[in-house]
Amino acid sequence: MSKAEIGLIGLGTMGAALALNIADNGFDIAVWNRTTEKTKQFHADAGALADRITPTESLEELVAAIAKPRAIILMVPAGRAVDDQITALRALLDDDDLIIDAGNANFHDTNRRARDAGDLPFLGIGVSGGEEGARFGPSIMGGGKRAYWDRVAHILTAISAKHEGTPCATWMGEEGAGHFVKAVHNGIEYADMQMIAETYGIMRDGLDMTDAQIADVFAKWDKGPLKSYLIEISGKVAGAIDPKTNKPMLDVIVDAAGQKGTGRWTVIEAQHLAAPVPAIEAAVVARNLSSQRDMRAKGEGLFGTAPHHIPHDNLGTETLESALIAGKILCYAQGFDMISKASEAFGWALPLPAIAKVWREGCIIRSAMLDDMADALATDADGNLMFAPHFADHLKQHHGALRQVVAQAALHGIALPALSSGLAYFDAMRTARGTANMIQGQRDFFGAHGFERIDGGSDQHGPWGS
Ligand code: NAP
Repeated sequence: MSKAEIGLIGLGTMGAALALNIADNGFDIAVWNRTTEKTKQFHADAGALADRITPTESLEELVAAIAKPRAIILMVPAGRAVDDQITALRALLDDDDLIIDAGNANFHDTNRRARDAGDLPFLGIGVSGGEEGARFGPSIMGGGKRAYWDRVAHILTAISAKHEGTPCATWMGEEGAGHFVKAVHNGIEYADMQMIAETYGIMRDGLDMTDAQIADVFAKWDKGPLKSYLIEISGKVAGAIDPKTNKPMLDVIVDAAGQKGTGRWTVIEAQHLAAPVPAIEAAVVARNLSSQRDMRAKGEGLFGTAPHHIPHDNLGTETLESALIAGKILCYAQGFDMISKASEAFGWALPLPAIAKVWREGCIIRSAMLDDMADALATDADGNLMFAPHFADHLKQHHGALRQVVAQAALHGIALPALSSGLAYFDAMRTARGTANMIQGQRDFFGAHGFERIDGGSDQHGPWGS
């Protein structure tokens, strides 16, 4: 058999799906997995694609099975496993062979690995879309030297999702740029999911709707401006029935959200960059809070159940849809603003419109709005998305609904951490004269930190001591 065009290590959920996708697109691939049994099973289950796949039982065998200069994808858990595999591979590879970490690495690790690699080819690529995406077309965000990306771009674009024929695979910049963009994608994903969950909470607790009714509302929203993968699956989740109890599935799922840490990384990085991403922060906090089930039960016992029921005259599902449109724009605006700040801070020139385009298909946050976002970012690349004319018009139209939803929820004891922080962000971003003059006065009072005067005058301290 001729040598494979590319290799892959790690036949777990993502690696197996990605390997099949690569083979399905006509590329011969050699694979290796730490547990050999899994490699054998994978090959046995590959059906018609088995002919394009070379299973190997050692790293030496894997390396020998790939045509030079080699390219090998790592799809193993982020962290130590990646470093170990790089070390083991480098001992066997030639100097011009390329290692591609396609897992969910922290971009700081990717920066370090790229620097450690020196002249040895290395790429860090973010892959989004879960197992289904990996198998049939993920969104791919590449990072590392452009020349290395170009070496494998024909494979990565072929296997990626397509939006009206355009591949959702793009080189983002040097070193960890691809993994950074993937992290912000996940941060936006957290905020988008949280805002949807909050509207579900209002329908369930505030408007006393059944899960089936809620499913219908999400299905209807998926035909309008909110059309997106997350709204689509939320409708399906709300409409599903538990085969065991015959109850709505949502009623038997524990209300404690898991997380693998990428949302947290985004928030920590946003703090380092001084990039305001309150909706993403609120979403991470909400997940942390969701896991404090005992404390929440204790709180309900102590303070009593909140009133919850919202009179239908006060709030309908049209207003909720409108509020969610505003919330979604604000959470994407924050994410893109963070990317643009990182671009400056790290000297990356991250391509904002291309990022919006690469997220249009294949990834979890794919949504109808991203087309307009790509256009808006192309014409107003340096600005905040909320000031781009198209989205400013949307916000003018919808922020009143967001205000109503947040106000009604507050009056009836329903927590809306992400939607309310989105509203606070909107209001802060349209307030030319804020309240930080008080903060500056306080800082000068206790720490003589000084302040700037609005008249530019020379007296930079207050008369506190006199
Ligand atoms: P997974 O199903 O748990 O598979 C992990 C794979 O890595 C297995 O093949 C495992 O081999 C191998 N592995 C584990 N530790 C290893 C080590 N120390 N040395 C060598 N191989 C090792 O994980 P996954 O969901 O495919 O995720 C892989 C990567 O993709 C992660 O970085 C993840 O964050 C990222 N990712 C996942 C998703 C998703 O939806 N699942 C989406 C995007 C990105 P054995 O069979 O021997 O255990």
